[in-house]
Amino acid sequence: RSAGQIGGVNIDNGGANDPKNLKVKLVLLGDSGVGKSCIVLRFVRGQFDPTSKVTIGASFLSQTIALQDSTTVKFEIWDTAGQERYAALAPLYYRGAAVSIIVYDITSPESFHKAQYWVKELQKHGSPDIVMALVGNKADLNEKREVPAQDGIDYAEKNGMYFIETSAKTADNINQLFEVHSHISTLPLNFLSL
Ligand code: GDP
Repeated sequence: RSAGQIGGVNIDNGGANDPKNLKVKLVLLGDSGVGKSCIVLRFVRGQFDPTSKVTIGASFLSQTIALQDSTTVKFEIWDTAGQERYAALAPLYYRGAAVSIIVYDITSPESFHKAQYWVKELQKHGSPDIVMALVGNKADLNEKREVPAQDGIDYAEKNGMYFIETSAKTADNINQLFEVHSHISTLPLNFLSL
């Protein structure tokens, strides 16, 4: 059996493959318009392009991150655009997901409310081991803020989630959101496939 190390956590992949190339399924959830696609584009392409909007179905992107010890982690990012209309498909998105990023817009209390709905959905239907991150996006619009950061912090803490505020527009905290040490290092090993 071969074993690797990732984020300080020992990984045993059963010896089947090279432990240096790991795959992680990540699902994005949140109200339409909160910035999910922009966050992914910022992360994957390093750009902010509000015009490249995915309007139908789900989009799928992947991004590989290298850790210090030359292990790579490939994120398979599932962006469930238009999911309100595809609610029946939601369990397909959750299946096998190691990480879920639930996004709201700090200028929209409705979107914060909706984020809580998705958290409950995941708690009901997602894997019990899923790592969840709550993300308050559009942090650059602080003057229009309607959801205090503390509300996000409190909710995340109560639900055992990570919390971060980001801006896809300015790139603030986008890398930190996907930062390996805050998420991957705590992933249960059974999620890490090759
Ligand atoms: P999605 O429906 O959740 O995928 O949302 P989009 O990524 O399509 O973004 C919806 C709108 O919000 C677009 O007009 C973006 O320009 C805008 N947007 C996304 N992220 C940010 C951000 O961090 N700051 C600001 N000011 N606008 C953003």
